[in-house]
Amino acid sequence: MLAGALDQAAPALEIKGIHKNFENFSALRDIDLTVRQGEMLCFLGPSGCGKTTLLRIIAGLETQTSGSIVQSGRDISWLPASERDYGIVFQSYALFPNLTIAENVAYGLVNGKMRKAEIQARVAELLAMAGLPTAGGKYPSQLSGGQQQRVALARALATNPGLLLLDEPLSALDATVRVRLRAEIRRLQKQVGITTIMVTHDQEEALSMSDRIVVMNHGVIEQVGTPMEIYERPASPFVANFVGKVNVLRGQALGGKRFRVGKMEIECEASEGSFRLGEDVSLYLRPEDRVAEHLEAGTPYRLGVLVNKVEFLGGLCIAEVSAEALGGQSLGLHFSLNQMHDLGICEGRRIDIALRASRIRVFSTGRDQA
Ligand code: ATP
Repeated sequence: MLAGALDQAAPALEIKGIHKNFENFSALRDIDLTVRQGEMLCFLGPSGCGKTTLLRIIAGLETQTSGSIVQSGRDISWLPASERDYGIVFQSYALFPNLTIAENVAYGLVNGKMRKAEIQARVAELLAMAGLPTAGGKYPSQLSGGQQQRVALARALATNPGLLLLDEPLSALDATVRVRLRAEIRRLQKQVGITTIMVTHDQEEALSMSDRIVVMNHGVIEQVGTPMEIYERPASPFVANFVGKVNVLRGQALGGKRFRVGKMEIECEASEGSFRLGEDVSLYLRPEDRVAEHLEAGTPYRLGVLVNKVEFLGGLCIAEVSAEALGGQSLGLHFSLNQMHDLGICEGRRIDIALRASRIRVFSTGRDQA
C-alpha cells in the first residue's frame, strides 16, 4: 500500500478511555471515540452532558483525569494547547476588536515563516472562501454577527490545521442567519476537507451538518452514528426522545418480536432486545410512521382514530389523535397540508390510519424511566 493511502486510513483522532472529574463530580466517563479523516462529527446533547468539556480536553484547554488522545498517530494527551494542531471557533466570535478583519485572519500567520506578500495572498484567499472578499479593511464592529463568525472561521483555517473545533458556533446568531451559515460551514468544511468536531445542543444543526453524530447524556456516549442511523435506529429511549419527535406507546411483550398495545397485537421487526413474557415495554413511533392513504380492509395495523387537536405549522401539520384500539393512548402524527385537505383531517373527525410497525423501536419501560 502507498504511504498516502496509509495516511488516508489513519484516524484523525482517537479518544481512549477519557474520564473527567471536577472534584467529586464526574463530568465524563469512559469516552472512547475514533474520528475519521475529513469527517464532520457533532457532539450533540443537552446542557451539562459534557460535550464542551470533551471538546476542551481535545483542544488542551482542559486536562482529562485519565485516558488519552492520539491525533494522527501522535499521543497529544499532555501537550499544551499552544502546541496542538487545530483551529477553533467559539460561540462568541472572539475577534480582536482593535484589529482589522485582515489582521484578525492573519493573526496566526504573522509569527510564522511566511513573507508579507504570502500572508496577504493567504488572507485574501481565506476571505474569498468565507464569502467576504472585500471586508479585509473593516473592523469587527462593522460586520454582522454572521459575518464575524465567517471571519472567525477563516482565522481558524488560516494555518491549515489538521483539525477544526467548533464550539456552538451558531448559537449566538438569529434563526435565518443560523440556517444560512450551517450550509456555509458545511460547504467550506467539505471544500477544505478538514476533519471537524462541532459541539451543539441543536438536533437540527447536528442532523443537517454532520457525517456522524455522537449523542451524549450525563457524561457518557449514548450512541454514535450517521444522522439517519441516529434518527431511524436510536439505541436508547434517551436518543429517541432527544433527536426528533417521537410517540411512546405503553404495551407488554408477548414473546419474540410481538407486543400487545391496548387491543392490538403488533409485530415489531426492528425491536432488538429480548423481553420477558408480559414485561412492560415502550414502543417508540415517529410521527411520520403512519399510512393514511389507499387503506384497504386487509392493510396491516389499520385502526380508527379520533382527531383531538390539529396544530398548523405551515406546510406541516401535527394531528393529535387517540385510538380505542390502542387502549385510548394518544399519538401525534405529521401530515402535509395537502394531506390534511385531501383526507379531510380536522378536529373532532374520525379517520383511519395504519401504523408502520416495521419502524417501531421497542425498549423496556424501566429503561425510559431511568
Ligand atoms: P452546555 O451546552 O450547557 O455548555 P455541556 O454539555 O457543554 O453543556 P459541559 O460544559 O461540558 O456541558 O459541563 C459538563 C458538566 O461539568 C456540567 O455539569 C458542568 O456544570 C460541569 N463543569 C464544567 N466545567 C466545570 C468546572 N470548571 N468546574 C466544575 N464543574 C464543571
